[in-house]
Amino acid sequence: MAGETNMSHKEFMKNYRSGQSKNYLKYSPKDNYPDYSKHKCMVKRHLTPEMYEKLYTRVTPNGVTLDKVIQNSVCCQNQIIGLLAGDEESYEVFHELFNSVIDEKHGGFGVNDKHPPPDLDASKLVNGKLDEKYVRSCRVRTGRSVRGLCFPSAVCRAERREVEKVITDALSELSGDLAGKYYPLSTMSPEDEKQLIEDHFLFQKPTGHLMVNSTSVRDWPDARGIWHNKDKNFLIWVNEEDHCRVISMQKGGDMQATFERFGRGLQQIEACMKKKGREFMWNERLGYLCACPSNIGTGLRCSAHIQLKNVSKLPNYEDIVKAMGMQPRGTAGEHTEAVDSVYDISNSARLKKSERQFVQDVIDALNKLIEMEKRLEEGKSIDDLIPK
Ligand code: ADP
Ligand code: MG
Repeated sequence: MAGETNMSHKEFMKNYRSGQSKNYLKYSPKDNYPDYSKHKCMVKRHLTPEMYEKLYTRVTPNGVTLDKVIQNSVCCQNQIIGLLAGDEESYEVFHELFNSVIDEKHGGFGVNDKHPPPDLDASKLVNGKLDEKYVRSCRVRTGRSVRGLCFPSAVCRAERREVEKVITDALSELSGDLAGKYYPLSTMSPEDEKQLIEDHFLFQKPTGHLMVNSTSVRDWPDARGIWHNKDKNFLIWVNEEDHCRVISMQKGGDMQATFERFGRGLQQIEACMKKKGREFMWNERLGYLCACPSNIGTGLRCSAHIQLKNVSKLPNYEDIVKAMGMQPRGTAGEHTEAVDSVYDISNSARLKKSERQFVQDVIDALNKLIEMEKRLEEGKSIDDLIPK
């Protein structure tokens, strides 16, 4: 083993198992610095050669190195961020890089800033039942990670199966309207697969940047699956981009009920996990942690499918939506087009506000868009409604 020649095999294996094997360190950080000549990502901007050198020898308790967390930025020229934590400790061990990327991505979040505590209280929402003439469906989703287990980029097969077991054990205990069934991808019957596709529930093998570094797609479809309740309005994806994605969705305009079920389901999953000594990754400063620093805090995206026949024709439609702190997506999700003027409108931020605040922001924005739509239908001015 080059670079380890003075070490006995026993000693080497001991170090190797504890993640301390630093074989690559025989090369200098200068020689190992990535070629970012064609890249635009945030990691390129923040990871100066000086910072690379400073963080070069650090290793997390799970053996995650700097090169591991930045691999996406190197392999994928079009990445926006390019940073993926390998484990919870990555956020701390490489804090200089993570903190400065988080600061840029979340529009200012200094090392002394704190994300607010979780708030899943749907009863405090105001005007949460939206006009169904315009709103077709509501959805609230987030990502969650199991403390003590590595993220997809650093997980091994056994550990990924453990993630699956922790999550599905907890889900199997849900009762009442939340009781449901788990469908592992690897043993899915053609009938179940057909049904899940028809329901738009089935997730695809990740492509694009998620292929890189053999992260999310390694060993596909081992330990991946979908769980949903009987009413098909509470849904969990297991081991896709995150340990799990928790989704509450329903037809019509009742965002309050959608968020109520989301919060209740999440709390019950957590309580079931706790009985077995497990918990989600969360810390006081950053909130909930996921592999990608863009999804920390609440990780929450609250969206409605809303038909905006008139507002969407305004020349500054996208600017209006963005000025409300919202992001417009197409009918089939990110990077798709609207069909029949039905847009997916959701909060663009994930950090610095509680879950309830984000949902309230979306409700307020949707009610405002509905008011604009009604006025335009009647040929009235909307000038006073346009955000400054
Ligand atoms: P996310 O990353 O939050 O999961 P995507 O933009 O990737 O969101 O979309 C995932 C899927 O969820 C798409 O099929 C999209 O049409 C669906 N979806 C998102 N919001 C809604 C909504 N409010 N009602 C119905 N379907 C939705
Ligand atoms: Mg998506």
